[in-house]
Amino acid sequence: MTVSITGATGFIGRRLVQRLHADNHQVRVLTRSRSNAQLIFPVRDFPGIVIAGEPEWQECIQGSNAVVNLAGMPISTRWSPEIKKEIKNSRIRVTSKVVDLINDSQVDVRPTVLVSATAVGYYGSSENQVFNEQSPSGNDYLAEVCREWEATALRVNKDVRVALIRIGVVLGKDGGALAKMIPLFMMFAGGPLGSGRQWFSWIHLDDIVNLIYEALLNPSYKGVINGTAPNPVRLGEMCEQLGSAMGRPSWLPVPELALKAVLGEGASVVLEGQKVLPTRAKELGFQFRYPYVKDALRAVLSQGSPS
Ligand code: NDP
Repeated sequence: MTVSITGATGFIGRRLVQRLHADNHQVRVLTRSRSNAQLIFPVRDFPGIVIAGEPEWQECIQGSNAVVNLAGMPISTRWSPEIKKEIKNSRIRVTSKVVDLINDSQVDVRPTVLVSATAVGYYGSSENQVFNEQSPSGNDYLAEVCREWEATALRVNKDVRVALIRIGVVLGKDGGALAKMIPLFMMFAGGPLGSGRQWFSWIHLDDIVNLIYEALLNPSYKGVINGTAPNPVRLGEMCEQLGSAMGRPSWLPVPELALKAVLGEGASVVLEGQKVLPTRAKELGFQFRYPYVKDALRAVLSQGSPS
């Protein structure tokens, strides 16, 4: 199939492109910066791939069978009022553009599937509640971002199948939360972040890529699907497993202040969590390669750097 992808140059997108390309699908990378994308996907490694700057997005989307929408400003930075605005606006802007381009395409060349990212932040945070796809949205800033992001994707014409993937914290070698946590662990000898009681709903990079891949191909993948592993852990346990996998002792807690110094208000992403279960993915028969965090962490840490 021919798949157009926004955010293809990011942590999840890069691996998705590799996977689709390896399986002989036609990939169209929709990016803000062609030169950056050309460095990430050199022609010698990705023959046949199309790299499109914003003026060419329309042409790419028309004639694609499917669109995957992953773009958005990273949230794990220090939050200022301007950055918070851009975290939200970047997602709404790109999703809106993708939806308009799909809706404006001629019906016979229009993609029939839109797989759009959102996040478990939709549910807000809680130390006690358990969330699945039926749970209501929270009332904090990230919940509001996710609600608007999802509502924008759902503006797509009704004849397009939409899968909204509420992604948990993705564990992989070269990006995401682990890339930030590992240096903190090296500095502080690796211990719980904050109280350690907050929930950490994680998923291995290979599993989130497989889930998106399934959602592209399988017509049963429709509506909201949580992209989290079936066994979320409290952050204290995650840190213990990470310390152990890294061969570091895990007795010295990383103080909230140190985290806030690195991440500002964005530290709330790790200091306040939620327990989210992949109820729909399990109903759909999705097979998780890494259901347990211990195995996921060991797999990530034993990996060489993927290209
Ligand atoms: P990345 O931050 O690695 O990449 C996102 C891509 O979005 C970038 O490569 C870039 O593509 C584009 N982008 C960055 N800033 C902006 C901006 N200001 N305006 C428009 N586009 C921008 O994201 P991930 O791969 O980690 O995640 C993909 C999606 O999944 C994101 O939307 C993220 O919020 C969501 N998600 C990820 C989680 C995770 O743990 N990784 C957890 C929950 C949700 P380019 O420069 O080519 O345009």
